[in-house]
Amino acid sequence: MLTELRRSFDAGVTRGYEWRITQLKKLLIICDNHEPEIVSALQDDLGKPELESSVYEVALLRNSIKLALKQLKDWMSPDKAKTSLTTFPASAEIVSEPLGVVLVISAWNYPFLLSLDPVVGAISAGNAVVLKPSELAPASSSLLAKLLEQYLDSSAVRVVEGAVSETTLLLEQKWDKIFYTGSSRIGRIIMMAAAKHLTPVVLELGGKSPVVIDSDTNLKITAKRIIVGKWGCNNGQACISPDYILTTKEYAPKLIDALKHELEAFYGKNPMESKDMSRIVNSNHFDRLSKMLEEKEVSEKIVYGGQKNKENLNIAPTILLDVPLDSLIMSEEIFGPLLPILTLNNLEESFDVIRSRPKPLAAYLFTQNQKLKERFATTVSAGGIVVNDIAVHLALHTLPFGGVGESGMGCYHGKFSFDAFSHKKAVLYKSFLGDSSIRYPPYSRGKIRL
Ligand code: NAD
Repeated sequence: MLTELRRSFDAGVTRGYEWRITQLKKLLIICDNHEPEIVSALQDDLGKPELESSVYEVALLRNSIKLALKQLKDWMSPDKAKTSLTTFPASAEIVSEPLGVVLVISAWNYPFLLSLDPVVGAISAGNAVVLKPSELAPASSSLLAKLLEQYLDSSAVRVVEGAVSETTLLLEQKWDKIFYTGSSRIGRIIMMAAAKHLTPVVLELGGKSPVVIDSDTNLKITAKRIIVGKWGCNNGQACISPDYILTTKEYAPKLIDALKHELEAFYGKNPMESKDMSRIVNSNHFDRLSKMLEEKEVSEKIVYGGQKNKENLNIAPTILLDVPLDSLIMSEEIFGPLLPILTLNNLEESFDVIRSRPKPLAAYLFTQNQKLKERFATTVSAGGIVVNDIAVHLALHTLPFGGVGESGMGCYHGKFSFDAFSHKKAVLYKSFLGDSSIRYPPYSRGKIRL
């Protein structure tokens, strides 16, 4: 398969503007004509509410395709570069060159968006591409395979379904770039496999994204935004989901009351019965989350929720107060509906807590204090920072999306996706005019003095 794709790439099939535009338009048709099937696959895989599927998977993808369609000509045209006296007379430009045949490996939590958004970047940049969706979202994976085969040019775009063994086989091949979305643990395996061929990687990983809450905030809006950012985004199974909250001892009771109040307003007295929340993806992840919750020093810290039902893979929105720092829930990425709150003597300590841990994919702050906002944005290291909201930076195509340190490397979205799959080639056009003898031997003192 790879040989065939490479042949297409080498023959120039994917390079032209027209081919790229045609494939992007086909992706748009998939969004427009197959939204009900996509929503239904997401319902099967994750019990994802229709609105969440339509907005966070289909609409975001549609926006991304439309932007590429609109901007592609501009993105593809070379950028003029300044020249200097040393090269005079000459002109220079930076040419965005497709890399070749690229591999996209994606995760199960947003199986459409996280599969097709990088594919939009790969196609825009003129590459042939193989997509490997996650086996943990099987309905989405098989729908992706069916739709891409039906609509896209199979000489240059393919889907390979499968789990570890199929991915391992793919990773043995030589790719021109690997774009991986998933856990940091598997990210290391991907990077080691890529290193054998000196293949560059983008690693879109996860981590524990903190939310710092100052007492000088709009409490009602803060609580509502945290709730939709946590439970309203795939029930906490999102890479930029709030993982834990940091606030002061004094403010915590007020915050907990507000969260309880708004949770009840959103999901009713029995959130386990709400149709507006996804379920846990499978029993392995249910058991992983249960284990976090059942640790003795943790289970006694539940201040809200805690109910679970393995039969229908439901865990209620659960808030915990001051769990031990060495507990499982504070050592690993939660990736589910549990939300610990850690209290501090003062907000200043939050900077130390964040700094003492691996760099997160996102860090959030709620405050009306301008100085604090600026300090947070300039001193906290994270893939991205949002002040006074959760996760919305992901929807802004003018911002790069990606991690730093253990939360990943490289970035995408908007033009950054095009760049992630392009080589920035330096091209210098020299003239035969102005040829000086200084640079040519025989060298002499006189030439230096010149
Ligand atoms: P995962 O690492 O288990 O799986 C992701 C992909 O890796 C799948 O396609 C899977 O088939 C493949 N894979 C699994 N084991 C493998 C192995 N041994 N060798 C080769 N390939 C293998 O991740 P996940 O559980 O699907 O996703 C959850 C993680 O992804 C979380 O950490 C989350 O934060 C992160 N994530 C990050 C982003 C982002 O944009 N940064 C988005 C979504 C999820």
